[in-house]
Amino acid sequence: MALELTHDQKMLQDTVDAFLANEIYPYEEEVDRTGKVPIDLGRQIEKRSKEVGLFSANLPESVGGGGLDYRGMALLEREYGKTSHALHSWIGRPTEILLACEGEQREQYLLPCVRGEKRELFALTEPEAGSDVMSMKTNAKPDGDDWILNGSKHFISGPKMPDFAIVFAATGLDETPRGPRKQITAFLVDVGIDGFSISEGSRCVSYRGYNTFQLNFSDVRLGPGQILGEAGQGLEQAGKWLGMNRVWVGASCCGKAERLFDLSAEWAATRKQFGQPIGKFQGTGFKLADIAVELRAADLLVVDAVKKAEKGIMTDSDAAMVKLFCSEMLHRAADHAVQIYGGMGLMEEMPIQRLWRDSRLERIWDGTSEIQRHIISRSILRPLGA
Ligand SMILES: Cc1cc2nc3c(=O)[nH]c(=O)nc-3n(C[C@H](O)[C@H](O)[C@H](O)COP(=O)(O)OP(=O)(O)OC[C@H]3O[C@@H](n4cnc5c(N)ncnc54)[C@H](O)[C@@H]3O)c2cc1C
Repeated sequence: MALELTHDQKMLQDTVDAFLANEIYPYEEEVDRTGKVPIDLGRQIEKRSKEVGLFSANLPESVGGGGLDYRGMALLEREYGKTSHALHSWIGRPTEILLACEGEQREQYLLPCVRGEKRELFALTEPEAGSDVMSMKTNAKPDGDDWILNGSKHFISGPKMPDFAIVFAATGLDETPRGPRKQITAFLVDVGIDGFSISEGSRCVSYRGYNTFQLNFSDVRLGPGQILGEAGQGLEQAGKWLGMNRVWVGASCCGKAERLFDLSAEWAATRKQFGQPIGKFQGTGFKLADIAVELRAADLLVVDAVKKAEKGIMTDSDAAMVKLFCSEMLHRAADHAVQIYGGMGLMEEMPIQRLWRDSRLERIWDGTSEIQRHIISRSILRPLGA
């Protein structure tokens, strides 16, 4: 990482590296091949990560979390990025939006998640509302003090069947100078309540073994205590978390690119053709140079965003730049890596093809590259009145 590490940060990095080496890397190939994380393995990762203090490291100590600051989180996500989401997602990092829990919600949702007794899903995307979040059809209508929830969500991902979902639903309309705008409210919806069905969704070729779920709501009755945060403020709450999450996606892309770089450099230095290491051919060596330069630039973008976040001045556009550049840098690095390996790059017994497949998702989730470019260009043009 492009940060000079303090003693504590170096210790954190060493802890994560040792954890990945012992608890995660040995299982990557099997999980990718079978498309499943055996439940005992998942529980073992959970347990060991609690023992070394990595579980819930993202949440403040005041709620029982590890209290990592932004630099620590960037370091953590960068190291996790070297491996599969299917495995490292068992090291719980509960969605920060749960910090909005109040009163009884803290004991029912937030604290059990911090302790790893419950798992949540973050349910925003719908079959007909992906990038265009505001076109969501899932809605909740008031009924006395209660709300009646109807609609569906898809692509909602997590390591295992959750205990509850944070579900975003339209609850009204605001009149704005740009026309009517949906009010979106976040609800805490328990798995198992009447009218809420959840099933495993389509299988993704990136991060095999990381599940997506399909959620359906049919006249689900929710009490007023199921609203997370303020009614009508769901997207604003989600936005705060999504911004920082895009920086963590960027950091994890840097970690994966570094792993691809290390593997490619080793291969280029040892694989011989025409009597010499293939790295000596400029067509191969220059690819390594390009990966190294772009990775350095991507790391610096992450550090820049982290420094701004520490000062409270990181904008949506800053986060979008990190997500856009780092995920596209990773895409180029993964493609170069396959090319450097030649045919072996596509063989199942080598990790390159898996890292290449895993990399592809990074340009899509948490907002596609096009949506990040939209956010950046909007921040340029809006002040000019366009
Ligand atoms: C494995 C996986 C896990 C996921 N996990 C979650 C989760 O836990 N929770 C959750 O809520 N969501 C989750 N998602 C959903 C993810 O965030 C969406 O897939 C993503 O936001 C894109 O939406 P979409 O797939 O519907 O694509 P679409 O919105 O249909 O986009 C299709 C294409 O059109 C382009 N496009 C759309 N609008 C514009 C525009 N205005 N300008 C230019 N181009 C545009 C897109 O960039 C893209 O190239 C997950 C997705 C996957 C694949």
